[in-house]
Amino acid sequence: MKKLSDTRYIFVTGGVTSSLGKGILASSLAKLLQSRGYSVTIQKLDPYINIDPGTLNPYEHGECFVTEDGAETDLDLGHYERFLNEATSQANNVTTGRIYQSVISKERKGDYLGKTVQIIPHITDEIKRRIKMLGSKGKYDIVVTEIGGTVGDIESLPYIESVRQLKWELGSKAIVIHLTLVPYLAATGELKTKPTQHSVKQLLEEGVQPDILVLRTEHNIEASVREKVALFCNVSIDAVVQSINVPTIYEVPLKMLDEKLDITVLKKLGLPVHDKIDLSSWNDFLTRLKNPTKTVEIGLVGKYVELHDAYKSIAEALIHAGAENRCKVDIKWIHSEDINNSNYTEILSKLNGIIVAPGFGHRGMKGKILTAKFARENNVPYFGICLGMQVAVIEFARNVLKMEDADSTEMSPKTPYPVIDLMEQQKGITDYGGTMRLGAYECRIIESESNVCKAYNKLTIHERHRHRYEFNDAYREKFIAAGMIPVGINPDTDLVEIIEIPNHRWFVGVQFHPEYRSTVLNPHPLFVDFIKNSLE
Ligand code: GLN
Repeated sequence: MKKLSDTRYIFVTGGVTSSLGKGILASSLAKLLQSRGYSVTIQKLDPYINIDPGTLNPYEHGECFVTEDGAETDLDLGHYERFLNEATSQANNVTTGRIYQSVISKERKGDYLGKTVQIIPHITDEIKRRIKMLGSKGKYDIVVTEIGGTVGDIESLPYIESVRQLKWELGSKAIVIHLTLVPYLAATGELKTKPTQHSVKQLLEEGVQPDILVLRTEHNIEASVREKVALFCNVSIDAVVQSINVPTIYEVPLKMLDEKLDITVLKKLGLPVHDKIDLSSWNDFLTRLKNPTKTVEIGLVGKYVELHDAYKSIAEALIHAGAENRCKVDIKWIHSEDINNSNYTEILSKLNGIIVAPGFGHRGMKGKILTAKFARENNVPYFGICLGMQVAVIEFARNVLKMEDADSTEMSPKTPYPVIDLMEQQKGITDYGGTMRLGAYECRIIESESNVCKAYNKLTIHERHRHRYEFNDAYREKFIAAGMIPVGINPDTDLVEIIEIPNHRWFVGVQFHPEYRSTVLNPHPLFVDFIKNSLE
């Protein structure tokens, strides 16, 4: 389809409560618009003061998602990529911290020519600039911008004000979709619309009339209730859409299609509605996902397992890989601090495959090392991701190479055998924000007989990173001689990116994060191969 001359903007705001799934709604709508031939991208504006979520504890905000260009971003960007099958970038995630940082550095340079720097217009101008920047490159017909937080929060006021101004400037080229909750009161058996009315009123107080309301609900919302919402909230009846709970997030696009959300959006934006919508590969995926022929139990060992969002991309990559293998992946969330010498065999022996998750710091390391030992000794498929690879190296050093107290210098700076060590470029770094080895780098697979080579079916790959420590090359020959082989290497620095134990069914450790690249339409080959081998 020919590119539109003017980019259209869709803003997604949230009301009543957080966690209603604005990210999934934005992704689902964007998927439908993409399937109708439009080029679409999605952006997230986060109202917190951190420059990015890179320094946030996962308990605070879930996983930190890393883009190709090395931005540490909100986990919703993971959904955008998994749904749209397109890479996002630094420009797709903006925080209040970053906005203020730009404005303050302009002020220091004297760019404001002596003016008083204020929230309106300077902060709002910077917000608008970052929204329009995505549209200005001429790459996208439609930019969907998700505003983090809930309407009424003090933090989100400048964002809502920017949306108000953009709606005024762009006219029908911009619309606002407001996602709210319609709770069900079991005592009276009723769906209640008052919270939605109040949240729209709040938006109106801030100067924004939403164009479309999406109502999250656990029960079907009757026409009469929709009419009431339309009347009280001043939107057309076709613009009241329900989003009912579904078993998998990947069904939401189909639910939104049933509700004709994409058509309503296109009409309101004055764009042609093409009859053809191609969701065939999406539907094929859903058919595989919903009709598994087997189940496989995968242990995910990490220290944040109480909060599944901390490992969002890994969990989603396992879903993609399961569908590809026509099996249901039953994730057993195992806290690494719960694993000890007396129980590890009992906990781990029920599993078909084991993942040791990425992480930082020494908490839970003992349990992770025992896990790697168990998988290695019992020929259980093992997939070590980032720290999970480093753990496998430490375990091998201690128990096979008999290097007592071998460790990463991250966990024990004085270890006699620093088999994992701080990267040269990281030495001397004192600011921890955005300074890890981040983003996509090339990796050469140097062993054509390895499991990873067979899985990727190619020798040069690109994967995303987020780490400071690396395999210590001084020990390379000792590891090779004992049977743990570096099979993937960075061609520029020689850094070990992948290790394998060829004498094992499937024992792979990767310094990068393959989970960030797994999408519905392109399940990641390593996850697919790991699940395939765990099934056998
Ligand atoms: N803490 C390790 C490092 O910095 C691993 C990081 C990770 O798992 N993302 O190298």
